Amino acid sequence: MDAYSRFHAATTRLREVADLQSVTPETGACACCGRPWASVEDSALAIPYVYGSGFAKQYLCTTCYSPKIGSFDELGIGSRRGPNKIPVPVMLGMMTGCGAVITSSNQLFLAVNEGFRLRVEDGALAAKGRVYRTDPLSLLMALYSDGRLGDPKEGFVYISNFGRKSLVLMGALRMTTDLRELWDNSDTGASCTDLSALLDVARWARENDHVTQAQKSGFWQPITTAARGKLDQDALTRWLAKTPNARELVHRLPSDPHDRLGLHKKMEKILQAAQ
Ligand SMILES: [Zn+2]
Repeated sequence: MDAYSRFHAATTRLREVADLQSVTPETGACACCGRPWASVEDSALAIPYVYGSGFAKQYLCTTCYSPKIGSFDELGIGSRRGPNKIPVPVMLGMMTGCGAVITSSNQLFLAVNEGFRLRVEDGALAAKGRVYRTDPLSLLMALYSDGRLGDPKEGFVYISNFGRKSLVLMGALRMTTDLRELWDNSDTGASCTDLSALLDVARWARENDHVTQAQKSGFWQPITTAARGKLDQDALTRWLAKTPNARELVHRLPSDPHDRLGLHKKMEKILQAAQ
């Protein structure tokens, strides 16, 4: 399976309860993911979609369209509009600041912020215990720690932010099969993080009694300063001298400087999820 087939399987209920008007497409491929109609999950079915007035009609595959499906049953009431307070269902593609994990058995788990927790708590997904008031990386770590994620090699999908541009999210959706290359999907596209290195750093913190320090930005300062391209050799030398097993820690750090920024925040999520 790939990212799209997992996303499709995990969102089956959204499409079942929605009365989708699918048509035979007039184009060769989905306007979002670019896959030919013969190779999408609901083969040869397309949903006509117009971004806004003045835009041409596009055809989306049912998978790419799924974040745009509002569902009272699964996700709950998003808001109430107008003087008559007409309820509007939550759709995945409007959950700004919220993320998700789709496990290797195609189960959808949501990581929601406080605002969305209140909105989605009446939905069937919350009733199944698949909605967590946490951030997406903490959710991923919790599912990884207790085994619900499944074997990472089987593939899972990690979404750090649905945002509001679901076509950007779905257009670049990537599946993770190796924790050294965690594909972080969001409405700004997909990026890659070495989660395996971060787990190694967390292990170093536990082994060297540095769990608290590793969650403080001050502790990492010489490393993050260097990652920004401003090496302070004296500060780094002092840091190496006072940090236990510092050489081993440096060896475990992710090699990409971008992955070395915000280390304390990442450690906070990883170390607290594993406790
Ligand atoms: Zn598509």
